[in-house]
Amino acid sequence: MSVAFSISEDSFYHEPSFSLSLEDNIHTFSQTNLMSNVSLYNDMEDGRGHADARVFAGTYEQDIARAASLISSAKHAIALTGAGVSVESGIPTFRGRDGLWNKYNPIELATPEAFARNPVLVWKWYAWRIGLVMSAVPSAAHSALYDMEKMGVIKWVITQNVDDLHERAGSRNVVHLHGIILRARCTKCDYSIWWNDVPKIPPIPKCESCGEPLRPDVIWFGEPLNEEALSKAWGIAQSSDLILVIGTSAVVYPAAAIPLVVKENGGKIVEINPDVTPLTPYADVYIKEGASYALRKILEALKK
Ligand code: NAD
Ligand code: ZN
Repeated sequence: MSVAFSISEDSFYHEPSFSLSLEDNIHTFSQTNLMSNVSLYNDMEDGRGHADARVFAGTYEQDIARAASLISSAKHAIALTGAGVSVESGIPTFRGRDGLWNKYNPIELATPEAFARNPVLVWKWYAWRIGLVMSAVPSAAHSALYDMEKMGVIKWVITQNVDDLHERAGSRNVVHLHGIILRARCTKCDYSIWWNDVPKIPPIPKCESCGEPLRPDVIWFGEPLNEEALSKAWGIAQSSDLILVIGTSAVVYPAAAIPLVVKENGGKIVEINPDVTPLTPYADVYIKEGASYALRKILEALKK
């Protein structure tokens, strides 16, 4: 497999033609059977196409046991989380069943152009999401990841989530790739604030230093990721020998490339997602389950 990414070239938040090259790799993978224990059932019809992909073709219990064994024997295991890890806390995902963006068009709400065009609409949507995050509580999935950090088996959580549920569950080593929804920053100067309450929109919030509009401190489509967060995540991935990938559709880059960095360096991928993703064929263990249930089971196995 060849995965050629560099931070400077691909630090944009997008769903680009990469999925094409990923498909090519997947195809090559299944054709040449590069991995000894790969058992893929590809359905290439939907373009993304992996109706079922069991990389480790064991029973569910065996998958959990194998995931726990890989995690406990890893020297530097990390986790990459996506919106699916916060679903059980009541925060909807963007894609998939009940995804936020089945009801709202992301292109109208999460781009710099949308904000320039209609800042009140964008801020209203964010205020609603800020409220959801503030009233949410960490799930068993967040807690299990914290327990794994305490046990020393998971060193870092790299998250695409803009909520603070990993931190509220107790996790200390968290990298936010896509910013934090509870913070707003000035569109002109360095000023930023944390929300203690849900902002009331309209009017749109203004900078207390220069008077220009504030914007949510998150990465919008088409925007580059924060260099510092991305290079930290990249460095962590490069020194990792296992990545637990939970609740991400694995289509938003460069986040989706992080597990491939681990794999490229000879590391393992354990994926937890009720739906298969473009990453599934690369996974050493794929657990087709919700985050809380699967992580609790893995945690129990780790404690044995
Ligand atoms: P996504 O919406 O694209 O995908 C969510 C994934 O979660 C899907 O693959 C879905 O099958 C899976 N999923 C659904 N229920 C699950 C469960 N119970 N357990 C485990 N997995 C489950 O989200 P993404 O991949 O994170 O990428 C899109 C962007 O969405 C991110 O950059 C992030 O900023 C943003 N987002 C964040 C939040 C949040 O902070 N909580 C919520 C929505 C979207
Ligand atoms: Zn300002």
